[in-house]
Amino acid sequence: MTLISTHDTAEILARALPHIRKYHGKTMVIKYGGNAMTDPALQAAFAQDVVLLKLVGINPVVVHGGGPQIENALQRLGKTGSFIQGMRVTDDETMGVVQWVLAGQVQQEIVGLINQAGGKAVGLTGRDGGMIRAKKLKLRDQADPTIEHDIGRVGDIVGVDLSILHTLQDDTFIPVISPIGFGESNESYNINADVVAAKLATVLQAEKLLMLTNISGVLNKSGDLLTELSALQVDAMVADGSISGGMLPKISGALDAAKSGVKAVHIIDGRVSHVLLLEILSDQAFGTMIRPS
Ligand code: ADP
Ligand code: MG
Repeated sequence: MTLISTHDTAEILARALPHIRKYHGKTMVIKYGGNAMTDPALQAAFAQDVVLLKLVGINPVVVHGGGPQIENALQRLGKTGSFIQGMRVTDDETMGVVQWVLAGQVQQEIVGLINQAGGKAVGLTGRDGGMIRAKKLKLRDQADPTIEHDIGRVGDIVGVDLSILHTLQDDTFIPVISPIGFGESNESYNINADVVAAKLATVLQAEKLLMLTNISGVLNKSGDLLTELSALQVDAMVADGSISGGMLPKISGALDAAKSGVKAVHIIDGRVSHVLLLEILSDQAFGTMIRPS
């Protein structure tokens, strides 16, 4: 760690002021977890950032994933996960595992970290407060749209009720949401966390959607970071296979949010300590910004 003089510290804090003024009272949706939840020091820094944002008057809404954690649990049961176009194939047994890992483990870990940092986090799934209604997802094949994949209990969001989020926000709580929705017959659906984060950002008309992941941003075929991406570029990269796997639902959610009025959508590197503060409260740009057109 470099030593910073008291004067420099004051200077740095003062430089954050215009950003704080700009974002005061605004909502920011943050996708965390899954692969970005790597080591304890980074987790603690993430929790501090969220609490600091809340205390300067920004409303963070955290949506978490859990890919590697679900994978570990499945392995212990002798199962291996499989994916189609970046979406987890979810049979009934896997759905049970998804539910207990996300709501029982990952969500509560994040809640604990934020509380430890001095915030008041509340863990919810999309079932709580009737927040996220879903139906079975019909996944069209990317290359041949006449083909539809059956990926089990994976949900497509059909409606969002924000009342629980508004209530929590008014009461200074920080919501931490597991990406689980409910259907017409009270059945649970596993929804990709990027898709949930993007949808909530849209419905909340969030100022920013920040997706923290385990890579520096969206990379081109040669592995270079693309600092900005337009809808046209995204389409071309999906078509030629330079975007694949978990980046597919992420980029499509990011694009949907950008097109639906979320002012700034960024895919950023969760392996950088305090990346949230850097992205929100400094002039520097991080990762990939997704443009609506
Ligand atoms: P998360 O848990 O953050 O959602 P995912 O594994 O689901 O992580 O998605 C991120 C991964 O997407 C990256 O680690 C990378 O392996 C993969 N990926 C595929 N195409 C790209 C691309 N063009 N640029 C960056 N990452 C990509
Ligand atoms: Mg993912």
